[in-house]
Order: sequence, then structure tokens, then C-alpha cells
Amino acid sequence: MSVSPSGDSPRILLCNDDGIHAPGIRSLATALDGVGELFVVAPTTEQSAVGHAITVRDPVRAHSIEFEVPSGPVPAWGVTGTPADSVKLACHQLLDAPPDLVVSGINQGPNTAVNVLYSGTVSAATEASILGLDAIAVSLCDWSAPQFEAAGRWARRIATWALGHGLPPGVLLNVNVPARPHEEIEGVALTRQARSRWEEGFDRRTDPADRPYYWLAGTFVNLDNGQKTDLSAIERGYVSVTPIQHDMTAYDAFDSLADGDWDVSFQDDATPEA
Ligand code: MN
Repeated sequence: MSVSPSGDSPRILLCNDDGIHAPGIRSLATALDGVGELFVVAPTTEQSAVGHAITVRDPVRAHSIEFEVPSGPVPAWGVTGTPADSVKLACHQLLDAPPDLVVSGINQGPNTAVNVLYSGTVSAATEASILGLDAIAVSLCDWSAPQFEAAGRWARRIATWALGHGLPPGVLLNVNVPARPHEEIEGVALTRQARSRWEEGFDRRTDPADRPYYWLAGTFVNLDNGQKTDLSAIERGYVSVTPIQHDMTAYDAFDSLADGDWDVSFQDDATPEA
């Protein structure tokens, strides 16, 4: 699972959750220009925080879109669905052969700690991983006035490395880049997700017809003082690379649950094949 077996230029599919017209995916494509043959399949509209949602009750449409990088035009489709829909549709319908690598981003805003679960950016890469493809999600930890240049350079470096080495089966890389100019980034760190949660409140407001509506608001709380976390890396000016997987089984919990009233005839101690 790395460079094309034929030795041809690797095929790289780009996706995101901010939508195909967002500046982040344009910066990503420009940054990866020359690394391989690029394809862009991404939601037509912003799909941030949709997580791993897929569309099953409505049709999904794809529209060809003009998309340029410095070396020329790139085949691109806008999809009327979610990030996960976009990757599925790209791999099953739009591309004539599967990509060697899927890169999702560059997201505007971090996807660290518990936010990985809500992220459409990460879910596009996770979907690729489920399909057996190597995948990377890239996010820039800046909401306000994102400068994607440094994040693009790191995306190129990490994507090139992944194409050369391949990733472990079932594992994707969640990359977060601190909001700093390239020369002020300290380096790159392999991290784990920090334990965290949102302390949430809803703003209760009233619409013009006097009916109440609610707007989710909250404060992010880091519950983890570890040094090897994604949040710690970003705070200290490092690019954070967290290997993640979609298998949510809590393998460490089996021992502590062993005394439960489970049917003992049901046994299989083999770990799942990738
Ligand atoms: Mn987003």
C-alpha cells in the first residue's frame, strides 16, 4: 500500500469537509502539485462537524468542477453529500482506478483530541482507510485568518513519506499544524489524542415568530496533562501526527470485563485481520 505497483506516478485523491471551494483544499492541491496525479472529490458545501455521516435516504450527485494547480488542471468533482460520501463515490464511481493515497484537508481549525470524532475532515480519511487505502487528514489550528502555506509544506512532506513507506493496515494519520509561520514550527511529533471534552451550553434564542431555538455553544476542556498528546504538541509549536484507526473496540477492557456473565462457549482470541 504505497507507490503504484506499476511504478507510475502515484494517484492522490483530495477531499475535505470545508467544501470544494474552500481555500484549504486549493492550498493542499497546490502543495501536492508534482507529488503525484491529483484528483479532487469533495462536498459542494461546507460539511464541518458531520463526522462519519453518509447519505442513504437521498440521491447524491457529482458535478465536474474547474480546479487548477500551478502545473495545470486537475480532475475535480463537487459532491452533494458528506466527506465520507465523497470518498466512497470517488473510489467506486468517479475514478477509473483506486488512489494510492487519500489526503483530506487542509481543514480550517484543529481536529485534535475528542474533536477527531466530530470531524468530517478526519472522516474522509477514515473512510479511505476502511476501503483499504492509505490516508492522511490535515488540519490547520487557526480559525480566524488561516495561512495555509506552512500546513501545505507539511502535508507534502508527510504525504511523500507515506507514499514511500506505506502505512500500517487500518491506520491513518491525523495531522494538525500549529498556527505559525513555517520557520517558527519546532518540528514534527508522533502523538496520541488528548483526553478532553466540551463543557456545553446551548444559547436559547427566539425567532421572529417568538418560537425558541437553540444554538450549541461550549468551552473546550483539556483533561490531559500528558506531554505526548496532540494538544501538547500544538501548544509547543510542533506539527502533531496521531496514528488513528476506526476499530473502536476497547481491547484493554477485555480483562477487566472477564468476570461478566458472558457465554463462555463464545471464544475467539484472534485479533482481527487487517
Ligand atoms: Mn471543516
